[in-house]
Amino acid sequence: MPVEIAPGIHRLATDYPHVCGLPLWLHVINAGSELVLLDAGIASTPEAATGPELAGLGLGLADLTLVVNSHAHPDHMGGNAVLKRASGARVAAPAAEVGWLEDNELLLTELWGSDPAAMDLSSAERWELLEMLDERVRVDVLLRDGDYLPLDRSLRVITTSGHSPGHIAVLDESSRTLFAFDDVQGRGQPYLDSSTWLAPLYTDVERYVGGLNRLLGLDFDALVPSHGDVLDSDAGRKRISESLEWVAEVEALTVKLLRAKGSLTVRELATAIGTDLGTYGGINLQTVRMARAHLEHLARQGDVEPRWHRRG
Ligand SMILES: [Zn+2]
Repeated sequence: MPVEIAPGIHRLATDYPHVCGLPLWLHVINAGSELVLLDAGIASTPEAATGPELAGLGLGLADLTLVVNSHAHPDHMGGNAVLKRASGARVAAPAAEVGWLEDNELLLTELWGSDPAAMDLSSAERWELLEMLDERVRVDVLLRDGDYLPLDRSLRVITTSGHSPGHIAVLDESSRTLFAFDDVQGRGQPYLDSSTWLAPLYTDVERYVGGLNRLLGLDFDALVPSHGDVLDSDAGRKRISESLEWVAEVEALTVKLLRAKGSLTVRELATAIGTDLGTYGGINLQTVRMARAHLEHLARQGDVEPRWHRRG
């Protein structure tokens, strides 16, 4: 049953815990003549969970008029095609990620395929991702930093861009509720059914840190993550600080390993992040992208240089 977390804002359960072993919440906002869904879940979410959840409020998928995607990852946009078919709602999403939002192949190549020497998707994993992603739909409203969602209610877009290149947060100004989606990751997220954690994911160190600092500078009474419980202002600020501390820890590990070994591959660093800093399962998308982000960060500062060499 949906919980009202602020006036006119309900939190909706999803099927993601059963499918991927992690919590995931969507939010529906009553904005006068419009009904807004923040994030779309994976392809199965609208029919398995969002429809039944909305029914608990006397509503249905057909009542949605605007679907907002915070960023172009499967758990935030996979439901777009089903939602569009069921409601005809407009889709609003970050302008900076329109390529990934409208092209699954581009997303798989640039995100999962960025470092083939460090990580390769098996065909089963690729198939699973495509199933969660479903067909892409055209984005109707391109969102930029400082925009307001096209509604009577004041919902401001803040580009944070760390977790993915164009990630947005959304601030409901009347209730001072800050939807941070996946941008405040702390030290990651424990899986519901195992002792392993999902590591944080960011593709650019400076943009992640910059986005977190922007969120710290906002006035909010509640911080709402996609994959966890609502936090009050103090707890939200603490979690943002923990997220910044994590980045510093990974940076220190990277520098330490470079000093000790002289050179480092993305795979070696990802393995170290995924085992030395917690039980993150070594090599995966999260650790590989963080490793690459920190090496690129040091390269931009002139402290290291990237090299290519023939394998084997
Ligand atoms: Zn997510």
